Amino acid sequence: MSVAESGLMGQQKSERSYSTGHLLVRLLGLAFRYRRACVVVTVMHGVLVLLNLATLGLTGLGIDFLQSQALHGSAPRWPAGIAPPSGWSPLQVVLALSGAVLAGALASAGVKYAAAIASAALSQRVLLQLRTDIYARLQRLSFRFYDSGQSSSIINRAAGDANNVRAFLDGVLIRMLTVVLTLVLYFVYMLQVHVGLTLACLASTPLLWVGSVLFSRAVQPAYLRASELGDAMVRTLVENLQGMQVVKAFARTAEQAVKFQAANESIRSLKFSIFQRMSTFQPLMGLLTQLNMLILIGYGGRLVIQGELSLGSGLFVFAGLLQEFAAQVAHITGIVNSVQSSLASAGRVFEVLDEPEEIRESGTPVRVRGVRDSLEFRGVSFGYVPDQPVLEDISLKLRAGECVAITGPTGSGKSTLLMLLKRFYDPTGGEILLDGRPLPDLCLADVRAAAGLVFQDSFLFSSTIAENIAFGAPEADREAVERAARSASAHEFISRLPAGYDSPVGEHGANLSGGQRQRLALARALIMQPSVLLLDDATSAVDPETELEIRQAIERVMRGRTTILVSTRFSTLCQADRVVVLQSGRITADGTPEQLLERSTWFRRLAELQSGAADPAGADTGESGAPKTLSLTELRGSVSAGSRRRAA
Ligand code: ADP
Ligand code: MG
Repeated sequence: MSVAESGLMGQQKSERSYSTGHLLVRLLGLAFRYRRACVVVTVMHGVLVLLNLATLGLTGLGIDFLQSQALHGSAPRWPAGIAPPSGWSPLQVVLALSGAVLAGALASAGVKYAAAIASAALSQRVLLQLRTDIYARLQRLSFRFYDSGQSSSIINRAAGDANNVRAFLDGVLIRMLTVVLTLVLYFVYMLQVHVGLTLACLASTPLLWVGSVLFSRAVQPAYLRASELGDAMVRTLVENLQGMQVVKAFARTAEQAVKFQAANESIRSLKFSIFQRMSTFQPLMGLLTQLNMLILIGYGGRLVIQGELSLGSGLFVFAGLLQEFAAQVAHITGIVNSVQSSLASAGRVFEVLDEPEEIRESGTPVRVRGVRDSLEFRGVSFGYVPDQPVLEDISLKLRAGECVAITGPTGSGKSTLLMLLKRFYDPTGGEILLDGRPLPDLCLADVRAAAGLVFQDSFLFSSTIAENIAFGAPEADREAVERAARSASAHEFISRLPAGYDSPVGEHGANLSGGQRQRLALARALIMQPSVLLLDDATSAVDPETELEIRQAIERVMRGRTTILVSTRFSTLCQADRVVVLQSGRITADGTPEQLLERSTWFRRLAELQSGAADPAGADTGESGAPKTLSLTELRGSVSAGSRRRAA
């Protein structure tokens, strides 16, 4: 199996190439897991074939009997010597035969029903299992996998491709077994009626095989392409839904609609061309089998006239069998079609299932409950893509309970640093130690639970406020939810909502303001009572009033917790015990806010731009037109004003 190098990660085009043989073996392996159900359905289809043969044979007998009565021909050859009692009138015999045909038809209908139900039950079970497997795997995949921007493709794989894979069971395997079984049984039956006629009628069969192979080659590449186009279509749809505001704001609705239509159109034309090929092929195959009828009438007719073949059990039954043969052969086209679509989809599904889990814990993970002593980055380097380092040689040690702020220009790697602590990614060099133990030695769930992370832009689920807050602790009661909300300064605005804690949160929190979402996210992190709090620019997107509220909330919740606070707000930075300046992935300064005024020009500039201004939080780094030059003493004054709480 070709794994890591050709994986999905970091690649635009991502087909891990599986050989057809490999895919078939794995699909058969899947079928083997459901072998009992497969066998049951196949046997039912076998019974159906036998019932078909029986009713056809009985009808033939009826014709032979009538012929012997009406035209004084020879008496029919009763099968296995079971003749009707000699006392029966011809009418009674005919009625008995018709009754038997009817019984056969009824039984056939019953078995057909049972087979359809069993087959549907099987395929739904397989589909459920496949989707569950894909979902489970997605939960364990690293962020690296998602960074390659394949979420639309994944949606398509879990929805469409999984369905095509399960079609391998009922649409290919079982149908193929049924067709083979049918053809063999028919063949044996025909041989037993007349060997010469059978061979003459079926002489063209090898041509069917050649035709199927040709058809299969013609549609194979098209199916893979169809799934890829499906990805593109889902992507356009998903991005439009998520970016609806932008689309509308920039008045691009019409263009986006055209784009979506184009994506749909390419799928339509491809599917249509597959359908066209199938539609040419199917009648051709049908035609071939119908030619056999000519042979039957000519050669078979002669045999009847010569008295070598009976009209009913011979010619009539043969005609029926040839018709059935043609129908079964027509199925082969469908099967070949399904095989190709199943194989193309199987490659895409197995690709997800085989994607390696990047973040692993050691064989004997150590359980931890938060930070007792220290949290340390030791010479940590990291890059999302090889050869493009985002963090270089970061060494930083936090004592338990300390609050360290990280600041620096956009793109300097601040958020990345927090992600490494959560083990969303692992460093490419150096290590991160929790109480002296490297993170990979610790239980992953414990590491993640130990650190509460509030993102810059927090994702909320479309459920109620209370459920969103209790996301990480579903067993939390209302009291705990409220406590967390109070700590996050969210209780007040929640109480003002019409349904309070039971108010619905729109998709992605659409009906809440940025500051409200931010405080909900804070409450959601707090309810887990994390010993480490990671706040990523929690005050970047809010108005000064809200910023103050959030800052107060943060101050409250920081107590007793080890906190890493990412921010470019001077006022927020002053709350920290220590500030670290990160520039282009390297630590360029480290110290108390006061010390940094002298040590870091970047921090000094930030302080100048943001303190002493009329609007305390209005001027952000780099965007102010007229920076105010303040003396160091004045700046020190604003630092200590900001960090009052530390003295308390
Ligand atoms: P900051 O939070 O300091 O603004 P980030 O840590 O978000 O910076 O990003 C640091 C660098 O890493 C940036 O150059 C950014 O383009 C890059 N980066 C961030 N996330 C990813 C990602 N998922 N894949 C690839 N590159 C990324
Ligand atoms: Mg960031």
